[in-house]
Amino acid sequence: MQKIAVLYDASQAVLSTFDLDEVLRQILLIARDYFKLENVAILLYDPKAQQLSMRSHLGGDTRRRIIKLGEGMIGHAAKAKRPIHAGDVRKEPRYIQGSPTTRSELAIPLMVRDQVVGVLDCQSDQENFFDSDTIDLLTLFSTQASMSLQNAHLYSLEQRRTAQLEAINVIAKQTTAVLELKELLLKTCALVRQSFGVDHVAILLREENDLIMRAQEGRLTPLKHEEERIPLGVGIVGQAMASGRTVVANDVSTVPAYLPLFAETRSKVCLPLVSFGQPLGVMTLDSAALDSFDPEDTRALESVADICATGVQNAYYVERVRQLAYIDGLTGIFNRRFFELRIGEELERARRYNGSLAVVMVDIDHFKRLNDEFGHLLGDEVLRQVSSVFSQQLRKVDVVCRYGGEEFALLLPQTTMEQALGVADKLRREVAGWQFPGVPRPVTISAGTAAFPLHGTSRDEVVKAADGALYAAKQAGRNCVRSAGEVALAATP
Ligand code: GH3
Ligand code: MG
Ligand code: MG
Repeated sequence: MQKIAVLYDASQAVLSTFDLDEVLRQILLIARDYFKLENVAILLYDPKAQQLSMRSHLGGDTRRRIIKLGEGMIGHAAKAKRPIHAGDVRKEPRYIQGSPTTRSELAIPLMVRDQVVGVLDCQSDQENFFDSDTIDLLTLFSTQASMSLQNAHLYSLEQRRTAQLEAINVIAKQTTAVLELKELLLKTCALVRQSFGVDHVAILLREENDLIMRAQEGRLTPLKHEEERIPLGVGIVGQAMASGRTVVANDVSTVPAYLPLFAETRSKVCLPLVSFGQPLGVMTLDSAALDSFDPEDTRALESVADICATGVQNAYYVERVRQLAYIDGLTGIFNRRFFELRIGEELERARRYNGSLAVVMVDIDHFKRLNDEFGHLLGDEVLRQVSSVFSQQLRKVDVVCRYGGEEFALLLPQTTMEQALGVADKLRREVAGWQFPGVPRPVTISAGTAAFPLHGTSRDEVVKAADGALYAAKQAGRNCVRSAGEVALAATP
């Protein structure tokens, strides 16, 4: 009768909840109250660490929290996969003392199929408390308990999967519309951190032979400043990048190749961002605690990394299209549309910082004749070579544009009128001395310079002044440079 009552209650416990802690509590309550035990506990087995750790108990909290497989009666029950009983613990060599009043102990392995998942440990203050009937009944009960444990475990896994799927959905939904790279990366970091509950998320992208941290979000202390380059192949980030595989390090101190990116990191996952077989970069998840990453979660994280990689690829594509709209197809330098955009920005900057800005308009001399004599294709090649001479001679901050036909417009920030004249004349000499293949005589250019704020304050004024100076250079016989000042001077009687 008692048997049936116990098993009935045990199965009720199985069915009553999927919450692991509640299941454990139910099991312990049944064990204690039906069997009148002073001290009951459940230890769960960690196969990786080969140890049992105390998960839940009723009675004196005096047991050891961690017990190795094979150690003491509990470890022995787990190792031998059968109940271990001591009628008098004082005579039991394997007994590890916990509560000083304990006289007899029964350790029953909790098994699912043939795997040990934990141990139910029962202690009584009475000697020889566990007769064979009680042992049988408790063992039977423990199989019910194992099942409920397993159910709770499966349920929590299922719940985690569901939560992860939801997170993936949210990330996919919220990032596919973002076409601006930086915004996309920041949003992804924030969403991943929130969905997966980690301390820090960062995204590093490949640029030539390095990885550069492009976005990060979290509470850890960065050890690399923004834009710092990490050579490809260095650290576990590099390892993930090179292999195209996820790298999980649950204790970074044991990883020889580890390169710290954050001060407090103790465990870390690196996910390669791969699009069409090309590794674009790495997403990293960092935790200040050891063993934060369950390999079970890797699949879900990889799905997120795939979404992110696609987003990055899209953003790159958009960036490229945007760039193409500003690039001249023949010469590869910027086009007039870009010049119009940039001159506005540069004037604004010069105005704000009280700086100067020079504009140089350049035109190739007698280009029509060159075309007529040597053909249009050769004319095209001359345009390309002149463009490349300009790009090579100027600074990185200068903007070289093909303004139209055989005309070029140059923007020289932080440059005075005198300096601009010098620069333009250097370009003129460089072109005049250049050997253009297939052209048996020199090709020359004329240039006109103007500067903000000297020759005008608006875009139209400055460009018009430079144009006027170019016209003056042509009038003066070509292959020379004139500045807007001289034009104004010459115009003054
Ligand atoms: P000037 O010294 O007064 O500037 O004389 P020019 O012959 O250079 O000036 P003009 O404006 O009379 O002729 C410009 C020529 O540039 C006419 C046109 O055929 C040529 N041209 C414009 N765009 C291209 C191009 O993309 N490729 C080639 N090959 N020629 C071009
Ligand atoms: Mg010309
Ligand atoms: Mg022209």
